[in-house]
Amino acid sequence: MNKYSIIGPPGAGKSTQAATLAKIHGFVRISVGDIFRWNIKNHTKLGAKIHRFIDSGQLVPDEFVAEVMKARLEQHDWNYGFVLDGYPASQSQAEFFLESYDLDGVILLQVPDEVLTARLANFRVCPACGFDPNLIYDRPRSESVCGLCGAELVTRGSESPAAIQERVREYHTKTEPVVDLLRQRELVVVVDGTRPAQEIHDYIRAELGLTSEAMAQRLRSRIAGAA
Ligand SMILES: [Zn+2]
Repeated sequence: MNKYSIIGPPGAGKSTQAATLAKIHGFVRISVGDIFRWNIKNHTKLGAKIHRFIDSGQLVPDEFVAEVMKARLEQHDWNYGFVLDGYPASQSQAEFFLESYDLDGVILLQVPDEVLTARLANFRVCPACGFDPNLIYDRPRSESVCGLCGAELVTRGSESPAAIQERVREYHTKTEPVVDLLRQRELVVVVDGTRPAQEIHDYIRAELGLTSEAMAQRLRSRIAGAA
């Protein structure tokens, strides 16, 4: 079993790396943020609960996040393993998680604050189709018009300079201590998140021993299982 977690500040590229690892190795990428967004969008009971926290100006409590994560993992659709995208994000999330599960590796993506701020400030989103280019990385043809549908791109509300600073600060105070906790029990791979995505991916695979040989073996067992 391959059970990994990718931790890093907002804008460090966690989702890109988690998605690539998941796609190549057949792991399931699990993001609490995605689960929350899906439930809000589909007006589920869980979505309504999340709405109530947000409307009352509260942070979503760690126990609630942990319950959602536990329910997600209990679906057991992760035959080859999972990659937790940005979880655990706080000490109590980590403690709760480690009561029931263990991790085979934790990937820490490190990016200096000033680089994060620049990255996050350059995200745009299309209110019509949801396309969200980054002006620095995706270099869209126009900085103001959606390349997919032609609507006008806007900045995301959460990406105002003050909001960005708050998110980065929260990472340092809440999430960074988690890495020390995980370091005592797990293999923590520290990666320079300013390097190109492909280099980061190659480095992670090498450090975690996710070699072509291991992949071939999984593929063989998958074929045998299907037969
Ligand atoms: Zn669009």
